[in-house]
Amino acid sequence: MRYVGRIYRPPSEADAYILQATIGCSWNHCTYCDMYRDKEFSLRPLEEVLADIDEAGRVAGREIDKVFVADGDALVMPMAHWEPILERCRARFPSLRRVSCYAMARNVRDKSDAQLARLRALGLSILYIGPESGDDVTLKRIAKGDTFAGHVEAAHKAKAAGLELSVIALLGVAPERAEAHAEATARLVTEMDPEYFAALTVTVVPGTPLATLATRGQFAVPAVPELLRELRTMVDQARPTDALFRTNHASNHLPLGGRLPRDRARIVSVIDAALRGEIPLRAERHRGL
Ligand code: SF4
Repeated sequence: MRYVGRIYRPPSEADAYILQATIGCSWNHCTYCDMYRDKEFSLRPLEEVLADIDEAGRVAGREIDKVFVADGDALVMPMAHWEPILERCRARFPSLRRVSCYAMARNVRDKSDAQLARLRALGLSILYIGPESGDDVTLKRIAKGDTFAGHVEAAHKAKAAGLELSVIALLGVAPERAEAHAEATARLVTEMDPEYFAALTVTVVPGTPLATLATRGQFAVPAVPELLRELRTMVDQARPTDALFRTNHASNHLPLGGRLPRDRARIVSVIDAALRGEIPLRAERHRGL
């Protein structure tokens, strides 16, 4: 298997076979993100990707039941790549039960309903979308390249095609608009109605526009209680139908899990206990991106 540069995947794909079908991110502008700044976006040649699938099939074909298609917004790939890739995965991995990838809202909107349904029929099942915030002012400031309404439209399209959604929010990304950010993000989660909802904590990564702002004194990651209050608002106000909620990403101070809305009261009470200092937080040295 060949990989170009650093490879990222969501925590829940730790046991997946990572198939790099694109290199970098087609957007690459989000102010806090350094994941693919060293890569110019491109599609990997299809023959190379198919050869990787063949090799993985020879080495571990029967054991591979999950595939995560990298890099940053792999859904952007044209159908002429997606279709043979998904067909080859099904042919080489007989135990395959799910295929996932990162997606931007615009990637979803750029596909037709029929194309999304075709991807679902061929095995693509989960899209990881990180709006980070539902607050349009914040979305503009972090250069997300999309809006509340744009994310909702994408979510409705994806769900109509039968694709599951994992929605990611970013705590601390808008210190001066923390409450607006948290409330709008809760509303966005309600509207997108994902099957999975995760919150990460913003980290200032050297080399990013956010790091430049931090150097100028124009941005600082909020104190932990403020981050917890954002999280509390999101959990308390989001109304998904039934979402698996996680804050198990290494960037977070308080790892939590449960289902929303079923476990809302319990999760909120844990956050409140942490705010009162009754629950130990993850040590700073154990946090990371
Ligand atoms: S869309 Fe994702 S991968 Fe691309 S720059 Fe933004 S956060 Fe980074």
